[in-house]
Amino acid sequence: MSRDQRRLTLKGYLKEYERGGFSPDRPPTLFGLVRELVDILEDSKNPKRMGDAGAHLYKVYDTCAKKYAGREAVACKKGCGYCCHTLVTITAPEIFVLARAVQERWKHPEDSFKADFEKAEAGTRGLTLLQRQTGRLACPLLSESSCSFYMPRPLTCRGYASTSLPACLDLYNHAVNNVPHPLINQAMRSFIFAGLHAALGLTGFDTREFELGHALHVALQPRAEARWLAGEAIFDGVAQAEQAPERAQGRQDFQFLVQVLKDGAYGKDVPANPWFGWTS
Ligand code: SF4
Repeated sequence: MSRDQRRLTLKGYLKEYERGGFSPDRPPTLFGLVRELVDILEDSKNPKRMGDAGAHLYKVYDTCAKKYAGREAVACKKGCGYCCHTLVTITAPEIFVLARAVQERWKHPEDSFKADFEKAEAGTRGLTLLQRQTGRLACPLLSESSCSFYMPRPLTCRGYASTSLPACLDLYNHAVNNVPHPLINQAMRSFIFAGLHAALGLTGFDTREFELGHALHVALQPRAEARWLAGEAIFDGVAQAEQAPERAQGRQDFQFLVQVLKDGAYGKDVPANPWFGWTS
């Protein structure tokens, strides 16, 4: 494809994204999200741009999820928190948008959430990823089997769904992971996550994923977002998903997808049919 043809094709995808948002059935619409996130992250006058990128990501995810609601039946119900007793990892933009919501709630001294969070987080801090994954310890944001911060919950949680409660119980009680996931949820999560990684990479930011509780504890410290934006390695003591050997499989495919998005979003040549294996 010539440069002019590529430019025209990209223009079409960006218009499509502008009209209807991202759709996993039309993967190149993701170029629109990558460009929006890059614009937010590049705005150096905005001291809250990391968290703003996270908030925008969730908006796009939720719009997309609404469009596909009901496409595949799920067993998930409010008050069923088995999947909230394992390792959850989170990227920096997501941590800061979550920290914002937590700080808002901490303004109310009568709310016991602050003490509950600190106690639960201290109980999981310093565990290895494997211990966190298999220890059946509740997420510090879980309260009465429901997420206390449903709206700013991480992308990992947003995209996680099961079609079988018995399989979830098997995982919770016996560490046997045969949980079937709806394909549409997996596609939405992988694509949007890849879009975030592409935008962070294009703007020179850290793409690492950190253990949720400890990362949130760090992000709640004074001026955390400003320090992170200034290049301070504030999350370095937090367990990172990249260290998990079980994640090696699939990382290469994911990196390929990220590279396609980085190139395609700005009109560079991409391999033929790069979405193969990612569409539901
Ligand atoms: S953030 Fe919310 S949804 Fe995610 S594991 Fe914690 S309690 Fe569950």
